[in-house]
Amino acid sequence: MERYDCVVVGAGPGGSTFALNAANRGLKTLIIEKESLPRYKTCGGGLTPAVKTLLDFDYSPVIERKVAGVAFLSRDEDDMVYYDDSMPVEMVARSEFDHCLVKQAVAAGAALIEKTRVVSVNELKDEVLIETGDGSRMSALILVGADGARSIAARAAGLNRGYGGIAVEAEIYPRDPGVVDEHGGHSIFGFGFTPGDGYGWVFPKKDHFSVGIGTSKARMPGLITVYRAFVDRFDFLRDAEERLRRGWFIPYCKSSETINTRRICLVGDAAHLVDPFSGEGIYHAISSGIIGAQTVAEELGKKGRLSRRYSREIRKQITRDFMFGRWCSDIYYRAPSYFYRKNRVIQALTRLAKKEIQYRDVLSELRKRK
Ligand SMILES: Cc1cc2nc3c(=O)[nH]c(=O)nc-3n(C[C@H](O)[C@H](O)[C@H](O)COP(=O)(O)OP(=O)(O)OC[C@H]3O[C@@H](n4cnc5c(N)ncnc54)[C@H](O)[C@@H]3O)c2cc1C
Repeated sequence: MERYDCVVVGAGPGGSTFALNAANRGLKTLIIEKESLPRYKTCGGGLTPAVKTLLDFDYSPVIERKVAGVAFLSRDEDDMVYYDDSMPVEMVARSEFDHCLVKQAVAAGAALIEKTRVVSVNELKDEVLIETGDGSRMSALILVGADGARSIAARAAGLNRGYGGIAVEAEIYPRDPGVVDEHGGHSIFGFGFTPGDGYGWVFPKKDHFSVGIGTSKARMPGLITVYRAFVDRFDFLRDAEERLRRGWFIPYCKSSETINTRRICLVGDAAHLVDPFSGEGIYHAISSGIIGAQTVAEELGKKGRLSRRYSREIRKQITRDFMFGRWCSDIYYRAPSYFYRKNRVIQALTRLAKKEIQYRDVLSELRKRK
């Protein structure tokens, strides 16, 4: 049976970044991915400006469009509110972006097995035993659960917290490709389509739009009807070709919880690290992969197993501020169209996306309302 320092389940941004950083630190690392790569992932593919501060290689070839502005609308209002120079986003196809990350990990020395599902994870005192769908077995000192919202690793570690919110998204191709350039200068966000919180989005890519709608509720009968109502608001999406419409889970962070045991640590969606206000998850998947690899390397060197340090670091660097994000959500969703008309709020969200400020600062802006 082959033995590894780290076996990483899942080749999304969290898993690949962990593997890249672990391999760079000399750890014998294997990534196991159930799909054939590059694989499609239901996702808006919007990268906030802070993502590039986490990656020290050039991923610009996979950026499909740099979108400098943002626009907002509400279901019950006719007008759209435009900001030409706020909340910039780099748009990627997740298949290509994720493939670029996993290739970096392999170049750094990580081994990769594709088209193979991990079906069993068994944590013992001194190792983790892993079994894959084809009957292969291997062992690891540390198993990294980077396997997304329905993580088998989280279940094996006793850290499963359900699926969180839900979303529906599709790739929409206008018959005339010029339409994407015409409407490609702004990411569009729409509010009031789902009851309570949640929003719809139209993200321009190279030759199409990624269009979706999501909510923090774990169930919402009729979400596809709501999605259709959102799409119908845009004349430029009429008569376009809809591809790959799918529903998926969004594991919003609801509280700072333990996300590792002695031999299993969770990163990204498996650890419920999606921003509870914005739904952003890629930055936090990458960030947790980096923090995870650093902590694992240091703790394996000293104690041969994990303490609670990884969970504490994630709380300190990511989830503690999410508490303020949840409060922002409570206030913002009482009157989205009031807040998105306030330039100072949009400028605060722009600085937040660059990680120049935190949610606690955005909260102060929202509270200035009265
Ligand atoms: C509709 C939608 C839109 C979104 N839009 C955005 C956005 O615009 N910007 C943003 O920042 N975030 C967005 N997110 C969130 C973002 O997609 C996730 O937070 C991000 O993909 C998390 O990365 P990850 O590496 O943790 O997991 P994933 O990207 O989900 O990767 C997990 C990998 O594990 C593999 N896997 C799962 N189980 C197994 C198994 N048993 N064995 C082997 N392999 C396995 C999967 O095939 C997959 O490749 C969106 C999410 C949704 C659902």
